[in-house]
Amino acid sequence: MSLESVFTKNDLAKYPFLKETAQYLSPLDLQIEDFINSGMSQILDHAMERATSAIINLAVRPLINEQGTKYVIKDTQKEILSFPVALMLVSATENSLIKKRYALAEAKQASNELSYESKEFVFKVALDFGWQIIFTSADSAFDFALYFNDFLQNASRLHDAKWKLVNSKLSEGNVYLNKRDVVRLLQEEIKRRIEKRLATVSVSKYPPEISELADKLKTIASEHIGQTEMEFPKVVIQEAFPPCINMLYDAASKNHHLPHMGRFALTAFLVNIGMSSESVTELFKSFSDYNERLTRYQVEHIAGTRGSGTKYTCPQCSILQTHNVCKNRDDTCKRIYHPLKYYKIKSKMTQLNVPEKIDTTAKT
Ligand code: SF4
Repeated sequence: MSLESVFTKNDLAKYPFLKETAQYLSPLDLQIEDFINSGMSQILDHAMERATSAIINLAVRPLINEQGTKYVIKDTQKEILSFPVALMLVSATENSLIKKRYALAEAKQASNELSYESKEFVFKVALDFGWQIIFTSADSAFDFALYFNDFLQNASRLHDAKWKLVNSKLSEGNVYLNKRDVVRLLQEEIKRRIEKRLATVSVSKYPPEISELADKLKTIASEHIGQTEMEFPKVVIQEAFPPCINMLYDAASKNHHLPHMGRFALTAFLVNIGMSSESVTELFKSFSDYNERLTRYQVEHIAGTRGSGTKYTCPQCSILQTHNVCKNRDDTCKRIYHPLKYYKIKSKMTQLNVPEKIDTTAKT
């Protein structure tokens, strides 16, 4: 590492999105072909593992090893190099939801790792993002004072009341925070940086080996997230709902009782096809046990706009069958294993005719 380095090689292996990684990689002058042809194919394999784990586990590596102790990165060089290669593989999928999931997984991994780091280390990472942040005095109940603009830029994406400026300790343009809060805000910042990098990876034509691996990632995503290509129409099309969801939707509209799995499946299905949390909350309004605050909390939690930021997907057909939620199977059901896949197929067909739109507030 150079004399001006703020981070060690081990830090860059853990946090490869840092600006200093580019400085470290630049003299190596690596091209895509180097990872395919030469003795560096193990980097490509590791990048594939990284992207696969991000899609399946929303984490790029374990935090704890098999012995129950903190996972230690043994080959730091391989870990650093696998990051830009994984970015390229994910970018080559040209699938916006895979890109989003990858960025979220990297950000959550970093945030988990950062929670074990010292305040001083977290401070250095915050500076990497250009935050205006200072340590508070030793007798303060808080660890940091963060300029309110940096706070707002990241807290505005978090929906818990604690992130509202009015609920924060604000003094002279700074918001007072503890280390845990700063790490949570950094997670948002890291996610944005990675999303930006994925949007700017520019390769006119990927080598066939890379395209093949990108296709594999798409298959893995469709199996594990339950959505091939995972892009849905911008309006919600009720005609394309699978029979199970239609029944649940109908029951909810008529204030009929829904079992827990039914409520979860319906909510997760609707938020995944793009219905706003507001509209889903409204759907449960006529229930006798309706509690607006609690329902909104649960819907936003499933939608990933609250809490950990993880968006839950609707359970696959085999699980719904076990819970007796799968009803009135039709011919399309024979071709699929997941209600979202059903919707994907049916909405394409339905769009050829004039669709019945039930919610125009769907997210874009
Ligand atoms: S097969 Fe799947 S999509 Fe069809 S009704 Fe059953 S659970 Fe729903």
